[in-house]
Parts: sequence; C-alpha cells; structure tokens
Amino acid sequence: MVLYTPGSTTNYDSSPVEKGKLRYHFLGGGEEVGNVGCILEDSSGTRLQIDYGFVPKKPPTYPEEGPPVSDVILTHSHIDHVGLAPWVVASHGAKLHCTELTAAVLEMIWRDTYKVSSIEGQPLPWDKRDLEEALDQIVTHSFDEWVDHGEWKWRFLPAGHIPGAAMVEIQFGDRNLLWSGDIDTRSSPCVIGAKAIQSDILFLESTYAGRNQPDRESEIQRFINRVVEVVERGGTCLIPSFANGRGQDMLSHLWESNLDLDVHYDGMGKRILNHYLDHPDYIRDSEKFRKIKRWARLVSSKSDRKKAIDADVIVTTSGMLDGGPAHWYLNRLRHDQRNAILLTGYQAEGSGGRQILDSSRLKIFGKLVDINLEVDQFSFSNHADHSLLVKFAKDVDASEVILFHGNQDDGQELLKKELESEEMVVHQPDNCRSYII
Ligand SMILES: [Zn+2]
Repeated sequence: MVLYTPGSTTNYDSSPVEKGKLRYHFLGGGEEVGNVGCILEDSSGTRLQIDYGFVPKKPPTYPEEGPPVSDVILTHSHIDHVGLAPWVVASHGAKLHCTELTAAVLEMIWRDTYKVSSIEGQPLPWDKRDLEEALDQIVTHSFDEWVDHGEWKWRFLPAGHIPGAAMVEIQFGDRNLLWSGDIDTRSSPCVIGAKAIQSDILFLESTYAGRNQPDRESEIQRFINRVVEVVERGGTCLIPSFANGRGQDMLSHLWESNLDLDVHYDGMGKRILNHYLDHPDYIRDSEKFRKIKRWARLVSSKSDRKKAIDADVIVTTSGMLDGGPAHWYLNRLRHDQRNAILLTGYQAEGSGGRQILDSSRLKIFGKLVDINLEVDQFSFSNHADHSLLVKFAKDVDASEVILFHGNQDDGQELLKKELESEEMVVHQPDNCRSYII
C-alpha cells in the first residue's frame, strides 16, 4: 500500500534560507517519541536529512513525507529512526550514511519489518525492491571520520545507547551543531557512554525529560535477587527484552552475577549478537560477549525451545510482550505459579506488557488468557535520564537547544526550565513546521 505520493504532501518550505541562518524541519519526532526524521538546510542550499523511522504500533504511526534530499544520516538501527529510509531511496535516490554495525543490523530490521508487515497486513510505504535498492545506497563511516557534504562537513561520534549508535556533529558556515541521536552518557555492558563536545546548537533527545532512573548498580542487584528467588523455588524467569542492546545487556548482568544459572537466549537478538561480535570495535568488551555467547544456550530449533521451558532463565523478544518467542514461552509458563515475568523496561500504552501489568491478561495467539504469574518491572533504559540530559547539555555548552524525541509534557517543561536557567535558549518544535535559527 502506498501511503505517500512523492512531492505532494510535505509541508517543507523549500524557499532559500537567509544568510547565516539554519532551517530545521521535523517530519516527525519533534513533539513525540519515535517517528524521527528532520531536514536541515542553510543559506548555501546545503540540505541533509537525519533519520527516517516509524513506530511499529498497531496501527503503525509515520512521520510526514520528506522533500527531495541527496543524503540521509541514520544515527542508529532502531526502527523508529530507520524504518522508512528505503522510501527516501526509492523516492529521491538518496544515499544513506551510517556506521558499519548499524548497516549490518539495519538490513535485518528492514527484512523483519517487511515480513511482519506482510503477515499482519500493515501498510508499509516501501516494498522489497526498494529495500534492495536501499541496501545498495548505504555508505558506512567510522566514528570521527569527517565527511564532506555540499558546503558542510560532518562526523559521527559515539552515542552510547546501543552498539553502533552515533551522534552527529555538523560544521556549517562558522557554526557547528550536535545532533544527539538517542544517547546514554552512562556506559552499559554493550557500549561506552556518550561524551559531550562543545557546540553552538544542540539537538537533544528528551525521552526521559522530567524522569530520573534508579541507580543502575542497585537495579542490577534487585534484578539478580529476584532471579535467585524464582530459581530457588523451582521456577523459570521469563525476561522479555528488546533484540538490539537490551537482551545482550541482560545476558551480561546474568553472566556477571557468577551464579550457576541455566540461561537460554531466543529471538532476533541472537543474530544481532553475532553482528556485534563481527564488529568488535563497536562494542565495549567483545571478548566478554564471546564468552557469554558460549555460556548461554542459544535456542535455534523447536526442540531447543521445548528444553528451554525447564530453564532457570529465558531471555527473549519481544521486549514489550507484543509477540515473538516470548508469547510461545508465556503460553506454557503461565500454568505454573513458581514462574515469573521480569520486565526489563518501560511498557508502552497498548503493549502486551502493559496489558499484563494492568489486567493480568494477555492476548496470545489470538486468545485472551489469564496470566497469574508474578510480574516485576525493572528500569534498564539505554537513554540518558533527566539529570544526565541536563549535565550533557551543560557540557556541550550550546547557546541554543532544540528538544526532540520526547513528549511535550510537564517533564519536557521541567527540562526546558532547567536549561534556560543555565542561559540556554530552548526550543520545543512541532512536527511538520520549518524553523529558522
Ligand atoms: Zn533508539
């Protein structure tokens, strides 16, 4: 199904930009989490797009159609940042720039997205031919490598968040800007945290504006204690985790605990772990993850899956219990109350995990069933929280800050006020509108 008719629906203002100014226009992700896509252009006529993703909800949500661009920078391989990139290639013949690891994972994400949308009959504005074309248009770059683009030059810098994730520094005219992408300034088992650089303008993600997260070490301890409790009573812990970063983090926490645990790993995260290991420069400790890969039992067949039912721990997708092997396991584990579900992060409105938390029920394979198991929720986010965002912005020392990838709610207001008290001018852009800075 074609959702977009190229050139007919964008609100992008293509008129020349005044000398010395920069225009930015969020196609999506300006006033929301996800759907990220932004066009940047200055008076030299140099134009770039950063990210183009959608949110795979039911039904999915999409950003606005973009104007013609020759180049798109993809910050990292999460679907809400890259899911629509094949459309830009098909419509405008754009090149896609990302890190090597992002490129490897991207291909999996796109193929999986295509498969899921075909099975579920969800509309997707690109087809298989566009996907193949998009793969041919990818150009990879290492961190710190300067790339010329029109009158500008730009480079990737490590963003923390997930392996391969990048921030983008762009030098234009006599100014520079820093695009945070999704960032975490804390190090995780998979990646080293992002470091600030001085910039005139900062585009700052604000997923966790107004919210702080628990201390990571004590959260890991609380998680491990819970696992021990469940295993000691003869139960199995089901640990739903995102495939890209979170699952591998969880395996690392379990491995680091030095407990004698029988841990099984299922879902798309196994293949992503292989990509991490094929690109060791992008992960914090590849040797450790090689050991973890040998230590965990990787589920690769139906009989493996049956064996996993008696494991101490099953780490698998999907992270919000919206499907994936987690449903298959839960359908069997739900009959024994010694078992437990340990959620590893935020459960969005409308997700399976949210449904279980609210009503102890879940739709599995088309049937609404009772889930009378203990459910515990942990906060293992890979985004910088409120206080870390403030610290990061102060370190960047920008005079102008544009908040995006967040909800324009009280939390973002709080972040805005705090940054304003540090003499920064703070913007909260709407989607589908052009701004001059
Ligand atoms: Zn992300």
